[in-house]
Amino acid sequence: MKRRSSIPIPVGSIVIGGDHPIAIQSMCTVPISNTSACIAQIHQLNQCGADLVRVALPDRESLEFLPEVLERTDPIPLIADVHYDYKIAIEAIHQGIPKIRLNPGNIKNAERIRDIAFEAKRMGVSIRVGANSGSLPEDLAHLLKAEALAEAAMREVRILEEAGFDQIIVAVKASDIQQTLEATRSVASQCSYPLHIGLTEAGTLFSSLIKSSALIGSLLQEGIGDTIRYSITGDPIYEVRAAKILLGSLGLKKGPIVIACPTCGRTDAPVEEWAEQIEAFLGFCDVSITIAVMGCAVNGIGEGKEADLGIAGTKHGGVIFRKGKVVAAYPKDQLWNRFFVLLQEVIRERA
Ligand code: SF4
Repeated sequence: MKRRSSIPIPVGSIVIGGDHPIAIQSMCTVPISNTSACIAQIHQLNQCGADLVRVALPDRESLEFLPEVLERTDPIPLIADVHYDYKIAIEAIHQGIPKIRLNPGNIKNAERIRDIAFEAKRMGVSIRVGANSGSLPEDLAHLLKAEALAEAAMREVRILEEAGFDQIIVAVKASDIQQTLEATRSVASQCSYPLHIGLTEAGTLFSSLIKSSALIGSLLQEGIGDTIRYSITGDPIYEVRAAKILLGSLGLKKGPIVIACPTCGRTDAPVEEWAEQIEAFLGFCDVSITIAVMGCAVNGIGEGKEADLGIAGTKHGGVIFRKGKVVAAYPKDQLWNRFFVLLQEVIRERA
Protein backbone atom coordinates (compact mmCIF):
# COMPACT_ATOMS: atom_id res chain seq x y z
CA MET A 1 0.00 0.00 0.00
CA LYS A 2 1.20 3.51 -0.73
CA ARG A 3 1.22 5.68 2.35
CA ARG A 4 -0.31 9.15 2.15
CA SER A 5 2.41 11.76 2.10
CA SER A 6 2.48 13.81 5.29
CA ILE A 7 4.71 16.40 6.93
CA PRO A 8 6.95 14.91 9.64
CA ILE A 9 6.15 16.46 13.02
CA PRO A 10 8.57 15.97 15.95
CA VAL A 11 7.00 15.08 19.29
CA GLY A 12 9.74 15.00 21.90
CA SER A 13 11.99 12.01 21.21
CA ILE A 14 9.98 10.70 18.23
CA VAL A 15 8.66 11.97 14.90
CA ILE A 16 5.13 11.41 13.63
CA GLY A 17 4.35 11.38 9.92
CA GLY A 18 6.56 11.46 6.85
CA ASP A 19 8.31 8.10 6.45
CA HIS A 20 8.47 7.48 10.17
CA PRO A 21 6.92 4.31 11.58
CA ILE A 22 3.26 4.53 12.49
CA ALA A 23 3.25 5.44 16.16
CA ILE A 24 1.16 3.66 18.79
CA GLN A 25 -0.64 5.82 21.32
CA SER A 26 -2.49 5.11 24.50
CA MET A 27 -3.85 7.12 27.37
CA CYS A 28 -3.12 6.95 31.06
CA THR A 29 -6.20 5.95 33.06
CA VAL A 30 -4.62 6.82 36.40
CA PRO A 31 -5.15 10.48 37.42
CA ILE A 32 -2.00 12.57 37.34
CA SER A 33 -2.64 13.50 40.98
CA ASN A 34 -1.86 9.86 41.82
CA THR A 35 1.61 10.67 40.57
CA SER A 36 3.60 7.50 41.30
CA ALA A 37 0.90 5.22 39.89
CA CYS A 38 0.51 7.49 36.86
CA ILE A 39 4.26 7.37 36.21
CA ALA A 40 4.28 3.58 36.64
CA GLN A 41 1.44 3.22 34.12
CA ILE A 42 3.20 5.43 31.57
CA HIS A 43 6.33 3.24 31.84
CA GLN A 44 4.26 0.07 31.60
CA LEU A 45 2.47 1.29 28.47
CA ASN A 46 5.74 2.36 26.90
CA GLN A 47 7.45 -0.96 27.68
CA CYS A 48 4.53 -2.78 26.04
CA GLY A 49 4.92 -0.75 22.86
CA ALA A 50 3.23 2.65 23.26
CA ASP A 51 5.33 5.28 21.50
CA LEU A 52 3.38 8.15 23.07
CA VAL A 53 1.15 8.37 26.11
CA ARG A 54 -1.59 10.95 26.67
CA VAL A 55 -2.28 12.28 30.13
CA ALA A 56 -5.39 14.22 31.15
CA LEU A 57 -4.95 17.62 32.75
CA PRO A 58 -8.51 18.14 33.97
CA ASP A 59 -7.89 21.30 36.03
CA ARG A 60 -5.20 23.77 37.01
CA GLU A 61 -4.41 21.79 40.18
CA SER A 62 -3.29 18.88 37.99
CA LEU A 63 -0.45 21.06 36.64
CA GLU A 64 1.40 20.86 39.94
CA PHE A 65 2.05 17.14 39.29
CA LEU A 66 3.18 17.52 35.67
CA PRO A 67 6.87 18.47 36.25
CA GLU A 68 7.53 15.31 38.27
CA VAL A 69 5.70 13.15 35.73
CA LEU A 70 7.68 14.68 32.85
CA GLU A 71 10.97 14.25 34.69
CA ARG A 72 10.39 10.65 35.75
CA THR A 73 9.09 9.46 32.37
CA ASP A 74 11.69 11.18 30.19
CA PRO A 75 12.21 10.49 27.22
CA ILE A 76 8.75 8.96 26.68
CA PRO A 77 6.76 11.59 24.71
CA LEU A 78 3.69 12.69 26.65
CA ILE A 79 0.63 14.51 25.36
CA ALA A 80 -1.35 16.83 27.59
CA ASP A 81 -5.08 16.43 27.11
CA VAL A 82 -6.61 19.84 27.69
CA HIS A 83 -10.25 20.88 27.55
CA TYR A 84 -11.90 24.28 28.01
CA ASP A 85 -9.12 26.14 29.85
CA TYR A 86 -6.46 27.53 27.49
CA LYS A 87 -4.27 28.55 30.42
CA ILE A 88 -3.74 24.89 31.32
CA ALA A 89 -2.41 24.32 27.79
CA ILE A 90 -0.05 27.29 28.04
CA GLU A 91 1.25 26.27 31.46
CA ALA A 92 1.79 22.67 30.30
CA ILE A 93 3.78 24.02 27.34
CA HIS A 94 5.93 26.08 29.71
CA GLN A 95 6.54 23.01 31.84
CA GLY A 96 7.96 21.12 28.87
CA ILE A 97 5.18 18.91 27.52
CA PRO A 98 6.08 18.02 23.90
CA LYS A 99 2.51 17.87 22.57
CA ILE A 100 -0.90 19.28 23.43
CA ARG A 101 -4.24 17.86 22.41
CA LEU A 102 -6.93 20.49 21.86
CA ASN A 103 -10.60 19.83 21.16
CA PRO A 104 -12.11 22.41 18.77
CA GLY A 105 -15.46 21.85 20.47
CA ASN A 106 -14.43 23.32 23.78
CA ILE A 107 -11.69 25.92 23.32
CA LYS A 108 -13.60 27.99 20.79
CA ASN A 109 -12.20 31.49 21.11
CA ALA A 110 -9.80 32.05 18.19
CA GLU A 111 -7.77 34.53 20.23
CA ARG A 112 -7.15 31.88 22.92
CA ILE A 113 -6.15 29.34 20.29
CA ARG A 114 -3.69 31.84 18.83
CA ASP A 115 -2.24 32.39 22.32
CA ILE A 116 -1.64 28.65 22.64
CA ALA A 117 -0.15 28.50 19.13
CA PHE A 118 2.22 31.35 19.90
CA GLU A 119 3.60 29.64 23.02
CA ALA A 120 3.68 26.23 21.34
CA LYS A 121 5.72 27.64 18.45
CA ARG A 122 8.09 29.41 20.82
CA MET A 123 8.66 26.21 22.84
CA GLY A 124 8.75 23.75 19.89
CA VAL A 125 5.59 21.95 20.96
CA SER A 126 3.20 20.22 18.55
CA ILE A 127 -0.58 20.39 18.73
CA ARG A 128 -3.07 17.67 17.97
CA VAL A 129 -6.35 19.11 16.78
CA GLY A 130 -8.69 16.38 17.96
CA ALA A 131 -12.34 16.80 16.99
CA ASN A 132 -14.87 14.43 18.54
CA SER A 133 -18.42 13.84 17.35
CA GLY A 134 -19.76 14.29 20.87
CA SER A 135 -18.42 17.82 21.27
CA LEU A 136 -18.79 19.54 17.93
CA PRO A 137 -19.22 23.32 17.66
CA GLU A 138 -22.95 24.22 17.62
CA ASP A 139 -22.73 26.20 14.40
CA LEU A 140 -21.80 23.02 12.50
CA ALA A 141 -24.84 21.09 13.74
CA HIS A 142 -26.65 21.50 10.41
CA LEU A 143 -23.98 19.49 8.57
CA LEU A 144 -23.79 15.71 8.27
CA LYS A 145 -21.75 14.32 11.17
CA ALA A 146 -18.73 13.39 9.04
CA GLU A 147 -18.71 16.80 7.35
CA ALA A 148 -19.09 18.60 10.69
CA LEU A 149 -16.21 16.60 12.19
CA ALA A 150 -13.89 17.36 9.30
CA GLU A 151 -14.87 21.02 9.22
CA ALA A 152 -14.46 21.43 13.00
CA ALA A 153 -10.92 20.13 12.74
CA MET A 154 -10.00 22.03 9.58
CA ARG A 155 -11.37 25.28 10.93
CA GLU A 156 -9.07 25.01 13.94
CA VAL A 157 -6.20 24.04 11.66
CA ARG A 158 -6.77 27.25 9.68
CA ILE A 159 -6.73 29.34 12.87
CA LEU A 160 -3.41 27.77 13.84
CA GLU A 161 -1.97 28.29 10.35
CA GLU A 162 -3.06 31.94 10.33
CA ALA A 163 -1.15 32.29 13.59
CA GLY A 164 1.95 30.98 11.80
CA PHE A 165 1.79 27.55 13.44
CA ASP A 166 2.25 24.35 11.43
CA GLN A 167 3.35 21.64 13.87
CA ILE A 168 -0.07 20.07 13.66
CA ILE A 169 -1.47 16.55 13.89
CA VAL A 170 -5.17 16.06 13.16
CA ALA A 171 -7.73 13.56 14.44
CA VAL A 172 -11.45 13.31 13.74
CA LYS A 173 -13.28 10.68 15.75
CA ALA A 174 -16.79 9.37 16.20
CA SER A 175 -17.91 6.09 17.71
CA ASP A 176 -19.45 5.28 14.33
CA ILE A 177 -17.07 3.61 11.86
CA GLN A 178 -18.55 5.06 8.68
CA GLN A 179 -18.65 8.63 10.00
CA THR A 180 -15.06 8.40 11.19
CA LEU A 181 -13.90 6.90 7.89
CA GLU A 182 -15.53 9.65 5.86
CA ALA A 183 -14.34 12.45 8.13
CA THR A 184 -10.77 11.13 8.18
CA ARG A 185 -10.67 10.72 4.41
CA SER A 186 -11.95 14.27 4.04
CA VAL A 187 -9.25 15.71 6.31
CA ALA A 188 -6.62 13.58 4.55
CA SER A 189 -7.59 15.18 1.25
CA GLN A 190 -7.54 18.73 2.63
CA CYS A 191 -4.15 18.91 4.33
CA SER A 192 -0.70 17.32 4.56
CA TYR A 193 -0.49 17.08 8.33
CA PRO A 194 -0.04 13.67 9.94
CA LEU A 195 -3.28 12.02 10.98
CA HIS A 196 -4.06 10.33 14.26
CA ILE A 197 -6.69 7.67 13.58
CA GLY A 198 -9.11 5.70 15.73
CA LEU A 199 -12.63 5.65 17.07
CA THR A 200 -13.82 7.39 20.20
CA GLU A 201 -15.94 5.65 22.82
CA ALA A 202 -15.39 2.37 21.01
CA GLY A 203 -16.56 0.34 23.99
CA THR A 204 -15.26 -2.55 26.03
CA LEU A 205 -12.48 -4.85 24.92
CA PHE A 206 -14.36 -7.16 22.55
CA SER A 207 -16.46 -4.42 21.00
CA SER A 208 -13.56 -2.02 20.53
CA LEU A 209 -11.21 -4.63 19.13
CA ILE A 210 -13.66 -5.38 16.34
CA LYS A 211 -14.81 -1.85 15.59
CA SER A 212 -11.40 -0.18 15.94
CA SER A 213 -9.69 -2.83 13.83
CA ALA A 214 -12.28 -2.36 11.07
CA LEU A 215 -11.74 1.41 11.11
CA ILE A 216 -7.99 1.59 11.62
CA GLY A 217 -7.30 -1.36 9.31
CA SER A 218 -9.39 0.15 6.51
CA LEU A 219 -7.68 3.53 6.73
CA LEU A 220 -4.19 2.03 6.95
CA GLN A 221 -4.92 -0.07 3.86
CA GLU A 222 -5.72 3.20 2.08
CA GLY A 223 -2.38 4.59 3.25
CA ILE A 224 -4.01 6.95 5.75
CA GLY A 225 -2.78 7.16 9.34
CA ASP A 226 0.47 8.16 11.02
CA THR A 227 -0.41 7.37 14.61
CA ILE A 228 -3.13 5.09 15.95
CA ARG A 229 -5.07 4.59 19.12
CA TYR A 230 -7.44 1.80 20.08
CA SER A 231 -9.94 3.34 22.48
CA ILE A 232 -10.88 0.58 24.94
CA THR A 233 -12.90 0.80 28.14
CA GLY A 234 -10.57 -1.15 30.37
CA ASP A 235 -6.86 -1.63 30.93
CA PRO A 236 -4.99 0.53 28.34
CA ILE A 237 -2.38 -2.22 27.99
CA TYR A 238 -4.94 -3.89 25.72
CA GLU A 239 -4.96 -0.77 23.52
CA VAL A 240 -1.23 -1.13 23.01
CA ARG A 241 -1.33 -4.89 22.46
CA ALA A 242 -4.12 -4.51 19.92
CA ALA A 243 -2.27 -1.75 18.06
CA LYS A 244 0.93 -3.82 17.94
CA ILE A 245 -0.88 -6.88 16.65
CA LEU A 246 -2.70 -4.89 13.95
CA LEU A 247 0.42 -3.09 12.74
CA GLY A 248 2.45 -6.32 12.84
CA SER A 249 -0.23 -8.25 10.95
CA LEU A 250 -0.32 -5.57 8.23
CA GLY A 251 3.46 -5.64 7.95
CA LEU A 252 3.71 -2.06 9.22
CA LYS A 253 5.70 -2.78 12.35
CA LYS A 254 8.32 -5.25 13.46
CA GLY A 255 7.18 -7.66 16.12
CA PRO A 256 6.07 -11.21 16.84
CA ILE A 257 2.95 -12.78 15.42
CA VAL A 258 1.36 -15.68 17.28
CA ILE A 259 -0.92 -17.85 15.20
CA ALA A 260 -3.07 -20.42 16.98
CA CYS A 261 -5.52 -22.99 15.68
CA PRO A 262 -9.20 -22.68 16.67
CA THR A 263 -9.11 -26.21 18.22
CA CYS A 264 -11.50 -29.02 17.34
CA GLY A 265 -12.30 -32.61 18.26
CA ARG A 266 -8.68 -33.63 17.57
CA THR A 267 -7.20 -31.18 20.07
CA ASP A 268 -4.63 -32.65 22.44
CA ALA A 269 -3.47 -29.43 24.12
CA PRO A 270 -4.71 -26.36 26.01
CA VAL A 271 -4.13 -24.16 22.95
CA GLU A 272 -5.71 -20.99 24.33
CA GLU A 273 -3.65 -21.17 27.54
CA TRP A 274 -0.43 -21.88 25.61
CA ALA A 275 -1.06 -19.07 23.13
CA GLU A 276 -1.83 -16.56 25.89
CA GLN A 277 1.34 -17.50 27.78
CA ILE A 278 3.43 -17.12 24.66
CA GLU A 279 1.81 -13.76 23.81
CA ALA A 280 2.47 -12.52 27.32
CA PHE A 281 6.10 -13.66 27.07
CA LEU A 282 6.49 -11.86 23.73
CA GLY A 283 4.79 -8.68 24.95
CA PHE A 284 8.02 -6.67 24.97
CA CYS A 285 9.62 -8.34 21.93
CA ASP A 286 10.13 -6.26 18.78
CA VAL A 287 11.66 -9.03 16.67
CA SER A 288 9.63 -10.16 13.65
CA ILE A 289 8.98 -13.85 14.23
CA THR A 290 5.93 -16.05 13.73
CA ILE A 291 5.03 -18.61 16.37
CA ALA A 292 2.42 -21.33 15.78
CA VAL A 293 0.41 -22.88 18.60
CA MET A 294 -1.53 -25.90 17.36
CA GLY A 295 -3.85 -28.36 19.07
CA CYS A 296 -2.66 -31.53 17.36
CA ALA A 297 0.39 -32.81 15.53
CA VAL A 298 -1.71 -34.50 12.81
CA ASN A 299 -2.65 -31.28 11.05
CA GLY A 300 -0.93 -28.66 13.17
CA ILE A 301 2.62 -29.08 11.84
CA GLY A 302 1.50 -28.69 8.23
CA GLU A 303 -0.88 -25.82 9.00
CA GLY A 304 1.86 -24.03 10.92
CA LYS A 305 4.67 -24.72 8.46
CA GLU A 306 5.32 -21.00 7.80
CA ALA A 307 6.08 -20.40 11.47
CA ASP A 308 9.63 -19.85 12.69
CA LEU A 309 8.79 -21.99 15.71
CA GLY A 310 5.74 -24.07 16.50
CA ILE A 311 4.32 -26.23 19.22
CA ALA A 312 1.60 -28.85 18.70
CA GLY A 313 -0.16 -31.05 21.22
CA THR A 314 0.08 -34.84 21.37
CA LYS A 315 -1.57 -37.38 23.68
CA HIS A 316 1.42 -37.37 26.04
CA GLY A 317 2.85 -33.88 25.60
CA GLY A 318 3.72 -32.21 22.35
CA VAL A 319 6.06 -31.70 19.44
CA ILE A 320 8.14 -28.65 18.66
CA PHE A 321 8.72 -27.77 15.04
CA ARG A 322 10.52 -25.16 12.97
CA LYS A 323 9.30 -24.21 9.49
CA GLY A 324 7.21 -27.37 9.37
CA LYS A 325 10.07 -29.72 10.38
CA VAL A 326 9.82 -31.56 13.70
CA VAL A 327 12.62 -30.72 16.13
CA ALA A 328 11.55 -33.28 18.71
CA ALA A 329 8.63 -34.67 20.69
CA TYR A 330 8.59 -34.15 24.45
CA PRO A 331 6.51 -35.44 27.34
CA LYS A 332 4.35 -32.91 29.18
CA ASP A 333 6.85 -32.25 31.99
CA GLN A 334 9.65 -31.26 29.56
CA LEU A 335 7.73 -29.68 26.72
CA TRP A 336 7.18 -26.18 28.02
CA ASN A 337 10.74 -25.60 29.29
CA ARG A 338 12.21 -26.87 26.06
CA PHE A 339 9.88 -24.69 24.00
CA PHE A 340 10.88 -21.51 25.83
CA VAL A 341 14.59 -22.29 25.49
CA LEU A 342 14.10 -22.66 21.73
CA LEU A 343 11.90 -19.56 21.58
CA GLN A 344 14.69 -17.46 23.08
CA GLU A 345 17.16 -18.99 20.62
CA VAL A 346 14.93 -18.10 17.66
CA ILE A 347 14.51 -14.53 18.93
CA ARG A 348 18.30 -14.16 19.29
CA GLU A 349 18.84 -15.53 15.76
CA ARG A 350 16.33 -13.10 14.23
CA ALA A 351 17.22 -10.03 16.28
FE1 SF4 B 1 -8.00 -29.32 15.10
FE2 SF4 B 1 -5.43 -30.00 14.88
FE3 SF4 B 1 -6.50 -28.19 13.18
FE4 SF4 B 1 -6.11 -27.53 15.72
S1 SF4 B 1 -4.52 -28.06 14.23
S2 SF4 B 1 -7.96 -27.17 14.54
S3 SF4 B 1 -6.52 -29.45 16.78
S4 SF4 B 1 -7.04 -30.36 13.35
